[in-house]
Amino acid sequence: MAALIWERISEHVIRCRLPFCDVTVGAVHADGSALVVDTGTTLSEAHAVAHDIAELTGCTVRHVVLTHNHFDHILGHSVFAAATTFCAPEVVTALAERHAWLRADAVTHGADPVEVDAALAAAVPPRYAQAAGNLTLAEDVTVRIVHPGRGHTDHDLVVLVADGPHTVVFCGDLVEESGDPCVDDQSDPAAWPATLDRLAALGGPGARYVPGHGAVVDAAFVHRQARWLAAR
Ligand SMILES: [Zn+2]
Repeated sequence: MAALIWERISEHVIRCRLPFCDVTVGAVHADGSALVVDTGTTLSEAHAVAHDIAELTGCTVRHVVLTHNHFDHILGHSVFAAATTFCAPEVVTALAERHAWLRADAVTHGADPVEVDAALAAAVPPRYAQAAGNLTLAEDVTVRIVHPGRGHTDHDLVVLVADGPHTVVFCGDLVEESGDPCVDDQSDPAAWPATLDRLAALGGPGARYVPGHGAVVDAAFVHRQARWLAAR
């Protein structure tokens, strides 16, 4: 039985909203291989994700995308350390060196310090880090990993999935639905609206956009969030 609640977005794409921080973890699966998008805060969350993907898809996780260096997206990474990881250099640095920063941010947001320490003790820098790329999981299931521009951070990656006739875009925290977009000292509010317009152009008007936090939205929502940020 699945440990988490998963939502099927298209034939080969699923995602769950982790109870802690409502973080999206996504999976694209085909022909025995799966790609995971973000890994949660704790090892127990990441192990639950790994368990469920194996059970629901029968696929082996061979690729991981870490969208940006915030704790709630990367601290579960070590559970998938055998997979090829796509992420920005800033994520590699965080997992290798910035443990005090990750810990403080996680605990401030309510994470269990014992679980955070366990995740940090297990942390390994991604061994095959690339910041962009293309993957073909099956003839009609292809993935593009793209940095569309500065916004929530200066290094956000998005994952564009072409699943037969359907397009799914994992937006990381460039798009949030369950709360306002999170602007902090890594953000670039001036550049963010144009980045979102580029993101909507990459996915197209018919795509389903999966926020880093919150319910799946459409291209019109992405454009509205761009205007909201521009008006701040
Ligand atoms: Zn974030």
